[in-house]
Amino acid sequence: MEHAHLAARCRAWNADRAHQVAAGKARARAFTPAHQAAAGLASYAAFSARFRADHGSPPLNGDWVRRYVAPDQIRGPLGAALPAPLQAIIFAGWCAGIPYGIAYWFDDPDALDLRAVPVGSLFDPDVAAHQWVAREPGWAMCALCYLAAICPACLPAGADNAILCRLPQVVCAGHCQGVTPCMR
Ligand SMILES: [Zn+2]
Ligand SMILES: [Zn+2]
Repeated sequence: MEHAHLAARCRAWNADRAHQVAAGKARARAFTPAHQAAAGLASYAAFSARFRADHGSPPLNGDWVRRYVAPDQIRGPLGAALPAPLQAIIFAGWCAGIPYGIAYWFDDPDALDLRAVPVGSLFDPDVAAHQWVAREPGWAMCALCYLAAICPACLPAGADNAILCRLPQVVCAGHCQGVTPCMR
């Protein structure tokens, strides 16, 4: 009886162990290609998101931007440095799924006749129609289209800056005194 009992336990043990080994091998077979594919996609996503941010190109996927890009990795045309508040606004727009490159934020008005005016255009005659929300001092972002604007009283040098001179000007609450458009 005792011997039979022991033999049964051994059989059960070995059967269970063999089953686990087989299961482990099956898992390894099933997981390795899937895992490699996932790792490949993640590294492609990280590369694509960072490369595009570095060139100011439209992101392929807002989720990739959120995961793999830091705001200070976003650069302007030909790798030009951008002000940190503008990087933060562009980052917020990309994460929210705005499918445009940095030209969306400071398109060249002289080039506008060559293409359609961008959605939520900076050059919309009615700048006040945007919902300008104050961000860093002197900076505003439209809560709807994520365009950026600066307060000319906070950033008086903006008119002489190659990047800032392309942004619309919206007076901040501190400098507002009845002037429109005004940041909220
Ligand atoms: Zn807007
Ligand atoms: Zn101001």
